[in-house]
Amino acid sequence: MNRPVRVRFAPSPTGPLHLGGMRTALYNYLFARKMGGTFILRIEDTDQNRFVPGAEAYITESLKWAGIEPTEGDIYGGNYGPYKQSDRKHLYKTYADQLIASGHAYIAFDTKEALETMKATFATHDNPSPSYNYTTRMTMQNSLTINAKEVETRIANGEPYVVRIKVPLNEEIGFQDLIRDYVVFNSSQVDDKVIFKSDGMPTYHLANVVDDYLMEISHVIRGEEWLSSTPIHVLLYRYLGWEEKMPQFAHLPLILKPDGNGKLSKRDGDRLGFPVFPLNWTSPETGEASQGYRERGFESEAFVNFLALLGWSPGTDQEIFSKEALIQAFSIEKISKSGAKFDFEKTKWFNEQFLRGLSNEALTERVLPFVRQKYPEKTPEINFLTKVCSLMKDRITYAEEVVTKGHFFFEHPQYSSENLAKIAPSIQGDFVSKLQNLLEKNTSHHPELLEIELKALAGEEQVKAGDMMKFLRISIVGELSGPSVPELMILLGAETVNKRLSACMEQLKNIH
Ligand code: GLU
Repeated sequence: MNRPVRVRFAPSPTGPLHLGGMRTALYNYLFARKMGGTFILRIEDTDQNRFVPGAEAYITESLKWAGIEPTEGDIYGGNYGPYKQSDRKHLYKTYADQLIASGHAYIAFDTKEALETMKATFATHDNPSPSYNYTTRMTMQNSLTINAKEVETRIANGEPYVVRIKVPLNEEIGFQDLIRDYVVFNSSQVDDKVIFKSDGMPTYHLANVVDDYLMEISHVIRGEEWLSSTPIHVLLYRYLGWEEKMPQFAHLPLILKPDGNGKLSKRDGDRLGFPVFPLNWTSPETGEASQGYRERGFESEAFVNFLALLGWSPGTDQEIFSKEALIQAFSIEKISKSGAKFDFEKTKWFNEQFLRGLSNEALTERVLPFVRQKYPEKTPEINFLTKVCSLMKDRITYAEEVVTKGHFFFEHPQYSSENLAKIAPSIQGDFVSKLQNLLEKNTSHHPELLEIELKALAGEEQVKAGDMMKFLRISIVGELSGPSVPELMILLGAETVNKRLSACMEQLKNIH
């Protein structure tokens, strides 16, 4: 069956999106782009108790930051709206009624206490928490055990009720999963899930299936945690007469903790010091704030690159992908079944690689906001910054480090007595004056030539070239690390460098 590719990301706005949610969105995006299809954002907010203010805006902002925006949804437009389930409330009851009428669902009045009593009564050693299902349903207060008239009266009296799906006894419920092949459940593993509540709202299962059908979704790409709900969905498609239109399923593997088994959680991020959210998030309930990848300094392109490889592989050794290259290479078949271990060090490597792949000009653009922020009064010229970027590119993990690690390009360095003590006694005022002279006269912009001249002077003055270089580096940078000394000298210019040489000598006097 050849149907247009329409996929959806269907988050519930119960909190910030984590890496797993972002990856689901990304795979949906990549698949839609690859297939020339449509990527839809649907907000699944049927559970009003779990609603968290700000979560929906967080979702759209995260998708925007990552550059994986949907093409259809409330804020993007489209002909299948509204795209938020609470705005579609009026749609679902018909389908619940249809299922009741056809005998595939029933009304249940059981209170919380009654459910607990049932569990206690039927609990056995092998089955400590019995379900509401074919074994227990006939002992409960529902439209299968109570006559129709009484059901009507109880509803008319305002008694709360739910609608449950009637799962058949001992039947195989199977479906083809694009990642896991044929997946089969026995209906005895599936309970009579609530599909509609007396507050007039459907539950996830009904709303999800109805909306996938009405929005003509062709493929459902979602996390593994939804695999066990799929038999319910398959039954709903069957009972509503929509089997022909059932989407193809693809259940993504889990993202695992870096240091063990089990699903990656926010706690692992806190414990091991890395973000699990794309953007920062302050919980409206607890006021607790968490940093996101954006605030940690990750470029969204690198974020997308590492996320894509968490569970999918191109089948080659290639690791660095632009978004366009990912779209080209992506296929659902190459998503793995087994969990993908998360490695934060590797994510940093992706950011480094991404920055190194930028042109100096493009890196400058990303660095400029940090420079402006740190030096609002004296932001250097773009040409200068571009050269700084070229010298720092291989030494940074985050763009901001051009400014933090490369502070000596923008301000006079500090000299710690520890570093001053590393300057050899052979470095004397006389020699330094000659160095300054040489620099003032130097008109060449070739670091190699300058280095030759510097070494020649050192030779004449019987100073070891290594001692001279160490002195120059400490004077210019303040530390023993940083880009090559002659390059620094040429970029900073004789005036700045000479000032630093004098200042360093001045301070050297104080420690001797
Ligand atoms: N609302 C579900 C979620 O929060 C959607 C799962 C699905 O894609 O069916 O992930």
